[in-house]
Amino acid sequence: MTIIMDGKKLAEKVTGNIKSEIKKYNIRPKLAVIMAGDNPSSKIYVQNKQKKALELGIDSVVLTFPQDVYEDNLLENIYILNEDVNINAILVQLPLPEHINTKRILEAIEPIKDVDGFTSYNFGLLALGYNPYCIPCTPKGILRLFDEYNIELEGKNVLVAGRSNIVGKPMMMLLQNRNATVTLAHSKTKNLKDISINSDIIISAVGKENLITEDMVKQNSIIIDVGINRDINGLKGDVDFKNVINKASYITPVPGGVGPMTIAMLMENTFELYKIQKNYQLL
Ligand code: NDP
Repeated sequence: MTIIMDGKKLAEKVTGNIKSEIKKYNIRPKLAVIMAGDNPSSKIYVQNKQKKALELGIDSVVLTFPQDVYEDNLLENIYILNEDVNINAILVQLPLPEHINTKRILEAIEPIKDVDGFTSYNFGLLALGYNPYCIPCTPKGILRLFDEYNIELEGKNVLVAGRSNIVGKPMMMLLQNRNATVTLAHSKTKNLKDISINSDIIISAVGKENLITEDMVKQNSIIIDVGINRDINGLKGDVDFKNVINKASYITPVPGGVGPMTIAMLMENTFELYKIQKNYQLL
């Protein structure tokens, strides 16, 4: 029998705990979000993050900038947020407008406020197998799902499709730190099926509907679908869920799998940064 991994339920458990801790200690962690441009998906994501923060007792502020914002203007605002003792976590909503050097903007964030773990300081610590201030939210959430369902990673062959700095690469590092054997695939990878069919676990973070089909997966494999593809029928992942489910032992749905975990981990990272900055021993 296939187990559908309930990311929504686990996310509610995680955020429920954060909410009670925040209430118990009567504290107000604060998240700042920088959003530039008019990407409609970004607006929805930021609204969802703000809504969740409010629900948990986390303050948030969103600084919005027009599509033609100057890079220096964004940088100046990050420097101000870095200095502001009332701000515990800084998030830059991606993608930024094309003329902006994303690397330069992300690098300006103080590592101790880098809630996404995208600065080279935190990313480098993760790559070295040490503890960064924050681990990127989506791969951290996937790892939490594995743990919740007692899925052992050591010695497993894992295919990660997609090599972005946001999902694929940090996912690969986290899995390697847990002694999995990882193949990181990308758009130039040849014969994806040859790799997928021999994988115990497949994590697809590409953004292509039906990239992973039933014939590509082996019996009893574990399937994690990160992809978000919107069409007239709503939200779909990268995996042909209705057919792949026949072969999987565990599978995440879209929606209700990885997505809610990403937001939950953002809240957790914000709370953890607060504790680090205040030197709080709450738990
Ligand atoms: P990007 O969109 O930045 O990159 C996509 C990656 O997929 C690239 O590495 C690309 O390779 C690779 N790729 C493209 N075609 C193939 C292929 N045929 N086989 C294997 N790899 C391929 O990735 P993101 O990580 O930002 O996003 C990926 C997906 O995950 C999107 O649908 C996004 O919306 C979703 N997402 C979902 C989240 C959630 O919380 N559920 C959070 C973040 C993202 P190359 O490097 O060669 O171009």
